Amino acid sequence: MSACVSSIAGWMACLAFLVAQTAQAAVEAAPATPQVRVEVTRRGDDWRAAFVFDRAFTAWVLPRSAPTAEGGQQWRAASWNIDTRGVRLQRRGSYDVLVADRGALPLRVDVSFTPVPERLQADYSPALTFTDGSVALFVAQFDGFPMDSLAAVGKLPSDLNNQLVPAAEITYVFRDSAGPVLLDGRRAAVAETADSNTYVLFGGTRPIETPDMIGILDPQLPAWIKESLSRAVPALLGRYAQELGRLREFKPALMVSWGGPTPGLVSRAGSVLHGLIAMQYEGSGVLEETAAQRHQGLWFIAHEAAHFWLGQTVAYEYARDAWITEGGADLLAVRAVAEIDPEYDPRGELNRAIEDCIRLTKRHGVASARDRGEQRTYYACGAVFGLVAEAGSGRPFYRFVRQLIDGNRADGIVTRAEWLAALDVATGKPMLRRDIERLLDKGAADPAAHIANLFTLAGITFELDPSGVPRLR
Ligand SMILES: [Zn+2]
Repeated sequence: MSACVSSIAGWMACLAFLVAQTAQAAVEAAPATPQVRVEVTRRGDDWRAAFVFDRAFTAWVLPRSAPTAEGGQQWRAASWNIDTRGVRLQRRGSYDVLVADRGALPLRVDVSFTPVPERLQADYSPALTFTDGSVALFVAQFDGFPMDSLAAVGKLPSDLNNQLVPAAEITYVFRDSAGPVLLDGRRAAVAETADSNTYVLFGGTRPIETPDMIGILDPQLPAWIKESLSRAVPALLGRYAQELGRLREFKPALMVSWGGPTPGLVSRAGSVLHGLIAMQYEGSGVLEETAAQRHQGLWFIAHEAAHFWLGQTVAYEYARDAWITEGGADLLAVRAVAEIDPEYDPRGELNRAIEDCIRLTKRHGVASARDRGEQRTYYACGAVFGLVAEAGSGRPFYRFVRQLIDGNRADGIVTRAEWLAALDVATGKPMLRRDIERLLDKGAADPAAHIANLFTLAGITFELDPSGVPRLR
C-alpha cells in the first residue's frame, strides 16, 4: 500500500484500488478486510480506549486530527496517554498516528484519555460536556486506518476526513460502569456501532423519550429553553413522523448542552450528524426568553430534523440539486414551527427566501450557484419551488415530500427529473415545471417578474412591493 501513497494523485489511485479490492473481496472471499475493535470504557473519571487489531500494522492513522479552533493545538497529544509499552502517539503531517518504537504495532493498544470538549477547526468537538457530568464522545475521534510506511503518512493530503474509503472494518464498543450509554437513539449497557459519524452519551442526564425521538437537555439550561425544547421537539418530530413516515433505521436524537451564562454573549451553535442534532447554548444573552430566540432555536432544529427524511432517507443525486433537500427542509421547517408555535409568522422567512432567490438568479441558473460560492441560492430558491409545489397541488407540502420519499425509498435518491415529474403529477400544470427548469438552468433577466408569474400560475396569494418583488400575504 505504501507504494501507491507517494502523492495526492497516488493516494486517490490507491483509494480506487481499495474500492476495487473491497468489491472483489465479496466475490472471492479473499483477502479479508482487516477487522478492528475499539472498546471505550468509562469508570468514574477514568476513560480508556482499547484498539484491538486482527493483524499487525506498522502504523494506525487517526484521520480526525484537526487542531483546536482556538490556539490551533493538537488536542490528542495533551489528552491521550498510551498505556501499552513500546507504543507512541506521533504527529505525521496532518495526522496523529499510533506507532511502535520498533517494528509493528502489537495486536492490542491501550489508551487512557481525558475527553476534550473543545471546538476544532472544521471538525466536530471530540466531546460535549453537560453540567451534571454527562459526557458525549464523538465516535469518529477513534476512527483509523492502517498504513505500512510512516513516510507515506506524512504525505497524506490534509482533508481526508470525509473521503476515506474504509480500509478496515471497525466496530466501536462503549460501556459505562455507571449505567447504560446512549447511541443511535437507544440506551444499552454495551452499545456497538460501525458508523462513527455520531456522538455516544455517557451519564445520567435523564432523556425525554417518545416513540419518535430521544432528547438530552442539560439540566442547567435556562428554564425557558428547557421548557420550549421539551415541549416543542417531541411535537415537531411527532409531526414529521406522522406526515413523512416513521424513520426505520434510527430514532432521531437531540443533545443540548449549556456553556454557562458567559457575560455579554448570545450563542447557539449546532451540528448535525447521523441521526443526531447536537446543540450548545451559552451566554447571559440567552437567559431571558424572547420570541425571536425561541423561534430561531426551533427553526434550526426543524430544518435539521427535516433532513432525517429529506437528506438521509432520500438524498439528491448531484450537489447542484441541493435545492431539493435544502429548500425542502426550509419549507418543512417553516410549516412545522408555525403549527407548533402559533406566535411564529412563516411569512418573514418565506419572503426572505423569495427576495434572495430573485437576487441570486438574475441571469444565473440555480444549478451553477455553487460555482459562484452562492450556497444560499439552494435554500432560497428550493423553498420558492416548494411553495409552488404546495400551492400548485392544493395540498400541504408534507404530502408532496411524502410522495418523493415513498417513491424513491428503494434507491434513496431523488433526482431533479424525479422532483419535476412529481411536480407535474401533483399539480397537473406543466407550465410550472417549464418555469422552474428555466430558473434552474439559466435564471431570468427579470427574476422578480418570472417568480411573480410562477406564483400566479401556482395559485399563490401575494402582492408586489414597490420594486416588483412578490410578498406573501
Ligand atoms: Zn440543511
